[in-house]
Amino acid sequence: RAKQSGKGIACFFDREMDEAVRTRRQIENDLRHAVLRRQFFLEYQPLVEVQSDRIIGYEALLRWEHPQRGLIGPDVFIPIAEESGSIIQIGEWVLERACTEAAKWNEPLPISVNISPVQFLLPNLFDQVANILRRTGLNPWRLELEITEAALMHNREDVLAVLVRLRVLGVRIVMDDFGTGHSSLSNLQTFPFDKLKIDCSFTAALEKDPSAQAIVRAIIALGHSLRLAVVTEGVETERQRQILAEEGCLQIQGFLSGRPGAAPSTGQETARREKVPARADG
Ligand code: C2E
Ligand code: MG
Ligand code: MG
Ligand code: MG
Repeated sequence: RAKQSGKGIACFFDREMDEAVRTRRQIENDLRHAVLRRQFFLEYQPLVEVQSDRIIGYEALLRWEHPQRGLIGPDVFIPIAEESGSIIQIGEWVLERACTEAAKWNEPLPISVNISPVQFLLPNLFDQVANILRRTGLNPWRLELEITEAALMHNREDVLAVLVRLRVLGVRIVMDDFGTGHSSLSNLQTFPFDKLKIDCSFTAALEKDPSAQAIVRAIIALGHSLRLAVVTEGVETERQRQILAEEGCLQIQGFLSGRPGAAPSTGQETARREKVPARADG
């Protein structure tokens, strides 16, 4: 009897597994066409100065509007795109799109773009970025590339060479999700970072766990003494903001100051807005 019910469970899991594998294959396949079918779009989340709440830049975050499944978040599809290789094409689209849009903003604020570790396997990542900057006319100083420590695990020499060349061009390099990966402090010494982003998991624990505050304090001090800008991600509450301000963090990003959303206003929108009262008057 036990055996039989065991079999039943195994069967059930087999079916579930089949389903999961099918779904994944489907997503993998759909990802291959998503760029050409114009199913991607970018949202922008503001980075703000802690004291003044002034917006000092935006991070571009990728969204996928799947025709059947609806909106799919990057945490779901980026890993699949990385495994299947689609991320190469998708990553280029993101860069091109973010630079094109940012070039039109009223205010010339910095734009941050996430780069997958897989994109560093491209022999021509530098050329790709340089060409996109030239095509879109975006000032290289406005572009920040966010990479995680996973990008620094393999081919370290090659990755370093690419980062150095990008920096000579004026592009800034950001270490994303700091403190979570297989962090090695020597990465901060070896690679030419301009900015550190403290991972949101520390922020989430800030109000309850004194050790999270101690870690955040140490990262802020470390970053600043290495002359890096330090941003804390995932700030959701006023209390978290206060703690970070007290710890000397100057920049934050999170739902408290703004959720990811539509691109900031462009010259065109302003022109349109200005037309409305003119028409109403006459
Ligand atoms: P990330 O680069 O660390 O981006 C920050 C993530 O935290 C975003 O999730 C953002 O929506 C979320 N977030 C912002 N503020 C808060 C907050 O106050 N609370 C909480 N709980 N979350 C907050 P999202 O947009 O789902 O992106 C997840 C990850 O997917 C990103 O993490 C990044 O690693 C990756 N990703 C997003 N867009 C791209 C892209 O264009 N290319 C690549 N390669 N990866 C991307
Ligand atoms: Mg990021
Ligand atoms: Mg992050
Ligand atoms: Mg992340």
